[in-house]
Amino acid sequence: MTNLIFSSRVDSWFRVELPLELCERLFLQPGDKVRLRYTTKGAILTKAKPCCSLCGSESRLRPFGQWFLCERCVSWVISTELKSEKKSRPE
Ligand SMILES: [Zn+2]
Repeated sequence: MTNLIFSSRVDSWFRVELPLELCERLFLQPGDKVRLRYTTKGAILTKAKPCCSLCGSESRLRPFGQWFLCERCVSWVISTELKSEKKSRPE
């Protein structure tokens, strides 16, 4: 594994221009989402993968329009909705 270091400057709006070579290596295209993970040693930038809109999980995703929910959150939403339906249903 090759470690490469790229430098860029933060502008007055706290934006950083990514070096073209880094974008090519990460297969980033204009409009792609990236994820920045803060660590005690600095920040790590990765190309964002689809993730659950509620918990951030990247596994067992189901699409809902332009959003994704993981199966665990889908179950939670369904159970919460069923509970609220029972409370609001007239007897
Ligand atoms: Zn989730």
